[in-house]
Amino acid sequence: MKTYAYGFPRLGKNREYKKSLEDFWQGNISEKGLKEAVSGIDQQRQNFYKQFVDIFPSGEMTLYDNILDTAVMFGVCPFENLQEYFEYARGRNALEMMKFFGTNYHYLVPVIPKGFKFNLAYNKLLEYKKNLSGNNPAYFIGPFTFLKLSRVKGGFNSLLDSLCRQYKNAFGRLKKQGVKFFHIDEPAFVLDLTKSEINLITKVYKKYFLPFKQNIYLFTYYESVSWLKDLFSLPSAAIGLDFVSDSQNLKTLQKTGFPKDKILVAGIINGRIPDRADILERVDFLKRLESVKGLSRENIYISNAMPLFHIPVTLDNEKSLTPAKKKYLSFAAEKLYELSLLKDVLSGRRAKEAGKWAGTAKKQRQSLSSDNKTFNTLSLREDYFTKRRKLQDKFLGLPLFPSTTIGSFPQDKELRQMRLKFRKNKIPAAVYNKFIEKKISSLIELQEKMGLDVFVHGEFERSDMVEFFAQKLGGIITTDRGWVISYGSRVYRPPIIIGPIKRKKPLTLKEILYAQSLTSRPVKGIFTGPVTILAWSYNLRRNEDSKVAFELAGALNQEARDLVKKGIKIIQIDEPAIKERMPLKEKKRKSYFSWAVRAFNLTAKLPDKIQVHTHMCYSEFSDIIFWIMKMNFDVITIEASRSRGGITAAFKKVKFSRQIGPGVWDIHSKYPAEEEVMREIMKKSVRIFGKDKVWVNPDCGLKTRGWEEVIISLRKIVDLAKTLRTRYGR
Ligand code: GLN
Ligand code: ZN
Repeated sequence: MKTYAYGFPRLGKNREYKKSLEDFWQGNISEKGLKEAVSGIDQQRQNFYKQFVDIFPSGEMTLYDNILDTAVMFGVCPFENLQEYFEYARGRNALEMMKFFGTNYHYLVPVIPKGFKFNLAYNKLLEYKKNLSGNNPAYFIGPFTFLKLSRVKGGFNSLLDSLCRQYKNAFGRLKKQGVKFFHIDEPAFVLDLTKSEINLITKVYKKYFLPFKQNIYLFTYYESVSWLKDLFSLPSAAIGLDFVSDSQNLKTLQKTGFPKDKILVAGIINGRIPDRADILERVDFLKRLESVKGLSRENIYISNAMPLFHIPVTLDNEKSLTPAKKKYLSFAAEKLYELSLLKDVLSGRRAKEAGKWAGTAKKQRQSLSSDNKTFNTLSLREDYFTKRRKLQDKFLGLPLFPSTTIGSFPQDKELRQMRLKFRKNKIPAAVYNKFIEKKISSLIELQEKMGLDVFVHGEFERSDMVEFFAQKLGGIITTDRGWVISYGSRVYRPPIIIGPIKRKKPLTLKEILYAQSLTSRPVKGIFTGPVTILAWSYNLRRNEDSKVAFELAGALNQEARDLVKKGIKIIQIDEPAIKERMPLKEKKRKSYFSWAVRAFNLTAKLPDKIQVHTHMCYSEFSDIIFWIMKMNFDVITIEASRSRGGITAAFKKVKFSRQIGPGVWDIHSKYPAEEEVMREIMKKSVRIFGKDKVWVNPDCGLKTRGWEEVIISLRKIVDLAKTLRTRYGR
């Protein structure tokens, strides 16, 4: 039995990756400097691997994103120097970003024209993949996954054929240079694939990869594969399966067996959640695997169940966590340690160490038993919203086309510095609080001056829309340096849910009520919704996603009720992540949405005259609109400017009769809102929804923008609202 690990985070122990990239972008280091720095970080990664595991891929490192690199390798994204390479990632015409299989990692989406002829431009790639050595498999994103993640206009089958031919060339060239094995990641194999897609995969794999049958290690992860029999027929020496995300792979193997001439790389350590493994329980699990027909200790390797880059580098970095809390946790380096421990325990060594390590993890089952329960969503008939509308109109007295913003305002340098000083105890709480109050009061003044209709307090007290709440709620812990890459050099620290969620004290009351005390206009009581808090945290309470969501909903509903009691008339529950946690396979989605919608509705349970808003910002509603309609809100604000309002089509289809605020200003762009685009979106929306249903607002929060541009664009928003009122006025 051997240990195999892959996907170790590239961020570096001290976020060196982020620093190097940003240094290069700011012109502080040269191309050579950047490459050296990054290969140094790769060395550090490899040392982690070497310390604990037998096999790991080489060539996993990238200067930005591995999907982009694959596009580079096969001639889709040519470039001459690194400036040009980074144009694809962050230039004016940068590639679109998308979530990688419902995780919080964003990849760059290559665009592949119909009939494109791939070619092997891999010398460029080799520069970054110098460490390809004979014994370590060379790392690749698989051809099917690459194409599935790309924007392909048509001719998928022939593109896949042409692409595989080039993979074959790459393997051939590397083999000549002494590379013995190829690690191929095909997470797209776990999606709901059609019979013809499976046939296509089988056909091209056999057509091109048969000569490398003994060299290929083929990996699937994030869920189980529903066509194992065909998967086993593909040319490969080893197959990686995920035994953590669900229990289907094991069940199928127990029925069908495993080909005894192949190696099973058994993914049994969770790479997505930093929970500590109960080693002895994992040993039991392996014994069950060994009893599958065709499997024995000889042809099982043990591994992480999915890449490790979803979790932070090492627990060693955490100084504030108590030892008792640390006992729940295991970051990427510790996961490698778990693999080594597991291997030794299996051969009769280190049993005592394993017992000690398990700590609190003990008795928590590692495998998820699929939680397929469907909940009642508490949803109400559409005419209920008409009734609410009447009450709310009277209560709020808003004009047609009310103008508003989504919540946050610029988090400028001064604010970030004050927050840092406060966190490091360099300024007293009273000084910091006064500073935040000052920010709020000048924002209220600004909104009065500009003439917006519904105000916000600016969210200056929040560093991050999830971490802020996690720090105040019981049952969730946060880390000092548990950073994870979300894309490029962007990092965030996911909070960790470890116990029952409790609202120990008010979360938002102080700032929001202060803001409301300064104006007669309604100030929205804005907070992050239960599904998004859960989606952007790690949940260590296994099989309890729905339960945690309901607990969060209870806490947040209490907050909303307190706000309302103190005079807040509009509550906004942000749920930008509701689609993110959606399971990859269709048949699991109903259960997911049933608890997600129910959690939202529990949060939103308020007197009818209180207007409930929700905000979501991603660009595809068509496949989830059915569930969105079950959510109990009166107004929804969405991102719409990039699609010029096209995104509202999904709402049109279901004859949406509540109120909607399609964003008219793309806040991810450096450029101010464009009048023409704004008008186009509004025109479309009025036509679809009617003049009494449309709000005017930006796509999303403004925290990453500068004050100057914000003022320019908000002025345009207010002007637009006024023009619309004159034009369509009652
Ligand atoms: N209220 C939040 C803000 O304005 C919403 C952010 C989001 O949807 N991502 O920042
Ligand atoms: Zn948003």
